[in-house]
Amino acid sequence: MSERLGIFGGTFSPPHAGHVASAAAFAAQAHLDRLLVMPAFVPPHKVGDGVSFEHRAAMCRLAFSCLPEVTVSDLERRLGGTSYTYRTLETLTAPDRKLCLFCGTDMLLTLCSWRCPERIFELAEIWYHRREEDPQITEEIAGKCRFYTEQYGAVVHPIEGPVIVVSSSELRERLNCGESTAGLLDPAVERYIASWNLYRK
Ligand code: ATP
Repeated sequence: MSERLGIFGGTFSPPHAGHVASAAAFAAQAHLDRLLVMPAFVPPHKVGDGVSFEHRAAMCRLAFSCLPEVTVSDLERRLGGTSYTYRTLETLTAPDRKLCLFCGTDMLLTLCSWRCPERIFELAEIWYHRREEDPQITEEIAGKCRFYTEQYGAVVHPIEGPVIVVSSSELRERLNCGESTAGLLDPAVERYIASWNLYRK
């Protein structure tokens, strides 16, 4: 039987409760044998906040340690340069392996503007999870999924489960202002951030 390998990419600056809950639901619902959490080396979509790959990967190891199927991968650092998803998927493709790519809804809606979307849809099934409670986006998501299927032959699956409305940018703001992040960041990640004095301007 072929291996089902999940890929959960992101900036993870810092990794939060929404990421971990989504990873757990993704692993279960996509029947993954393994899930690679993959911090981007140089994220294509985001302006860096100065927190190194090493710090973001270390925080991921702490945040995702509760999920036995997860390995935090340094593949995108080893590949170097801008972390394009199609290139990561091309590297991971193997006979007897099915790739499953996780996207939050914001990423799902912009997938067709990423570098080489046709390769992404060819190489991986897409699994998406809602990260907002806005019902107006439901129609937009359905339309995008239809478009991806018709245009690219994409296979797109929703991940069911509770929506956790939180973002790393909101948490960076809170940390910068000295506000509580309880329940949104793993306590071990909170201690790591404090010990390295991250996200304080
Ligand atoms: P930022 O606020 O800095 O933009 P972020 O919270 O979106 O960060 P990323 O590391 O960029 O976090 O996200 C990695 C992946 O996780 C993306 O596919 C994103 O859509 C998804 N994601 C982020 N937050 C959530 C959430 N609360 N629920 C579900 N998916 C999420």
